[in-house]
Amino acid sequence: AVAAAYHPARAVVDLDAIAANVGVLTGYAGGAAVMAVVKADAYGHGLVPAARAALAGGATWLGTAQVGEALALRAAGVTAPRLLTWLYDPAVPMDALLAADVDVTVAAPWALDAVVDAARRTGRTARVHIKVDTGLGRNGLPPADLHALLPALAAAHAEGALELIGVWSHLAAADEPGNPLAHAQAAVLDDAVRALEAAGLPPQVRHLANSAALLTDPRLRYDLVRPGIAVYGLTPAVSLGTSDRWGLTPAMTLEARLATVKHLPAGHGISYGHAYVTPADTTVAVVPLGYADGIPRHASGTADRPGGPVGVNGRVVPVAGRVCMDQVVLDLGPGATERAGDVVEVFGTGRDGGPTAEDWAQRAGTIGYEIVTRVGSRIPRVHV
Ligand code: PLP
Repeated sequence: AVAAAYHPARAVVDLDAIAANVGVLTGYAGGAAVMAVVKADAYGHGLVPAARAALAGGATWLGTAQVGEALALRAAGVTAPRLLTWLYDPAVPMDALLAADVDVTVAAPWALDAVVDAARRTGRTARVHIKVDTGLGRNGLPPADLHALLPALAAAHAEGALELIGVWSHLAAADEPGNPLAHAQAAVLDDAVRALEAAGLPPQVRHLANSAALLTDPRLRYDLVRPGIAVYGLTPAVSLGTSDRWGLTPAMTLEARLATVKHLPAGHGISYGHAYVTPADTTVAVVPLGYADGIPRHASGTADRPGGPVGVNGRVVPVAGRVCMDQVVLDLGPGATERAGDVVEVFGTGRDGGPTAEDWAQRAGTIGYEIVTRVGSRIPRVHV
């Protein structure tokens, strides 16, 4: 906390933007309920405040990958109507999850045993969502494993150890509209629903859509949608355009106070390896943020390839030279009037032409998700 208090940068998180984004997404969802995905510290925005803002905006569910984040939400007093978690190993504290009224996922046969054991031990009925691997090849029961598990599921249900709440899956290429994979996956999910129904276990909610599917394809919305990145005002992929196209507002603005500002002659190398050399007599400024703070080293700048964009008093200046651990350098050009202590914007809403996390993602050859989730823990989040 002390280190963060003295850091010359801050990530300002606009909670009203998060609430408003959820409102916009509720519109896209039609009649489907909205689960705000708040994993990874709410994509870097601060778990508890972002979750509360999403609920204020109309989300009725919250979702986390890690169980610790689900328990942290409950420990902070977040009484979301429903909270689902999905990624764990056999050491999962299942008893604690049931005690905290967290919906749990069965994504592997051993997880059903863990749920039933915990339910017996605690005398509770677990609220279970079956996760089917419909094609992503990641976490989830392949259809054959689901079929093999049906008798045990039915027995656990009959015993009162679990209530089957949901059946769900995750899409592999939803950010490529028109890719037939999404509907092929939906068909596998539909088969799983039918199999559960035939076993006397009709699921109450079916869910599949992430942000990209929610934004682009009404047929994938089912009963509940699970947007993450769009809650924070970013689009899932460059191919889907920028936030404004969808009525979303980026919630995080990363800003820093300039450290050194100084004059350098033409031909002066900048930062490690001298990957950038000043083309003229100029003013350079040091921004006290580096890869230890989540600034991608792939957004370093050379003469032919501009580095990550930084907003400086209304203009956009690319990073010059390599991104270092704690700092980057900007070539402000001759005649610049900036001074040490001036505040620059690394990324923000993009309104007024400033840089966005999406712009950084493009310069670094990555996705906006990585830019916001990597903003380091030593950068204070200021929630406004
Ligand atoms: N559902 C699951 C299972 C996820 O892992 C994620 C994030 O990757 C999401 C939903 C939200 O995805 P997005 O941020 O693309 O909306």
